[in-house]
Formats: sequence, structure tokens, C-alpha cells
Amino acid sequence: MKQGRLLYSGKAKSVYCTDSDNRLIVEFRDDITAFDGGKKDRLKNKGNYNAGVSAFFFSYLEEHGVKTHFVEMLDNNRMVVKRLKMIPLEVIVRNIAAGSIVRNYPFTEKTPLKPPVIVIDYKDDSRHDPMLNDDLILALGLCTAAELKRIKASALKINSILVKLLAQQGITLVDFKLEFGRAGRTICVGDEISMDSMRLWDKKTGESLDKDVYRFEKGDVMETYDRVSHRIMGKKSSPQKKRK
Ligand code: C5P
Repeated sequence: MKQGRLLYSGKAKSVYCTDSDNRLIVEFRDDITAFDGGKKDRLKNKGNYNAGVSAFFFSYLEEHGVKTHFVEMLDNNRMVVKRLKMIPLEVIVRNIAAGSIVRNYPFTEKTPLKPPVIVIDYKDDSRHDPMLNDDLILALGLCTAAELKRIKASALKINSILVKLLAQQGITLVDFKLEFGRAGRTICVGDEISMDSMRLWDKKTGESLDKDVYRFEKGDVMETYDRVSHRIMGKKSSPQKKRK
């Protein structure tokens, strides 16, 4: 697979064309950002961790009947994916109240949400990703009613698969964000599923094991990403290395 021209560069990933019309390469860069890009840094090897965990989750979901864009890893931080027509929605599944819904609504942090709550935002940085509802999604023509139904069902299925998988490693899946796209008539999960797009808490200690460590300066985010990525993939963590 040959990497071609840069198609799109986001806050932490770059997407390249390839010599195949229906394949793209996603490069997970070492950039990390928070608060709408208000806080940003470059952390050595960060891209490798998110790429590795995303590849692991995508493969696991495929084994459980969920269609994703994942094809294969080219190296530690470059992933070959199916070319999708992305739907500009950020589909967030919440199992426990945390983050923006605690700030914006009268939820008490750590309250379990049963059944899980799906929140869908419009993916548009210039508008700060405003929250949508079904009527707005349809009025804006972002997807059809049938697609929206499939997207929500898929998000809930992914949630129950990942809740179980992570629980085996002593991790609570608090919430996470998914993006979907079309490959012909098939709706596939795209983008990434990683510590950058999830809220993960240690079941015993309640420690944050995700980007909240970076957002709220709760510790060494790279040490956390190293530890949690090995835990997620059921491997031993590498010995503590000096980073930066
Ligand atoms: O900030 P908020 O509480 O709404 O985030 C909910 C979940 O969605 C978190 O796991 C967060 O990391 C993820 N998210 C994301 N990208 C965004 C917004 C939220 O990955 N643009």
C-alpha cells in the first residue's frame, strides 16, 4: 500500500490517499489537544498507543459482528482503512454521568445511567460541536431516519461489547465517542476508539485512565496511556521509561 497525498489533517490524526481508490491511510500523530484545541502538546509515542488500542478495539468489534473501517496496521502509528463517506455526527454513549453532561445538566457525577444515554453532537469545530436531536439531524439531512436507527443500535451494541471487555481488565467504561460513515449501503464505525475518545475509570480506585489525565493534569498522561493500553490489550505493561 503506497501513501499518497494528504487528504485531511485533524487535531491528532492525518488522513492520506493511497494507490487504491477505496483505501485510506490514517496516521495517528503524537499531538494531543483538549478544550476545543485550547490546550495542546506533542507527546512522544502518543500516536502509537492510540493507534494500537484502536486497532485492537476495531478487530475485536469485527469479530463480534460490528462493521468498522479497519483493514490493517502499516506500522505502529499508521492504519489502513476503508474509505468511508463520513457522517458529521459525534455519537457519545454514556454509562455514568461525567464530563459535559454534569456541567450542562443537573446530573451528579458518577451517577449510573441505566439504560445508557446516547448524546449526538454535530461535528463542526467552528460551531463547537453543538448537541443535536433526531429532528435536527433529519432536517439538516445528515442521515436518513433508517440510518440513524442503525447508528444508535450499533452504538449500543458496541457499548455492551466494550463494557464487558473492559470489565475483564478491571476498567469501567464511563462514556465514549464514535463516528460513523457509509461504505456503499453499509454503515461502518470510523475514526478511532482510544483513550482520547473514551472516559475510563479503574474499577477499584476510580483513577482516570484516559485523556482526562491530560485535560485536568491528573498525572503523567503518557505513563497512564502506556499502562492502560497494555491493560486493555491484556498484555504486561512495559517497564517504566523516561519520556519527553
Ligand atoms: O466532554 P464530554 O463529556 O461531552 O465527552 C464525552 C466523551 O466523548 C468523552 O469520553 C470524550 O473523550 C469523548 N469526546 C470525544 N471527542 C469530542 C467530544 C467528546 O472523543 N469531540
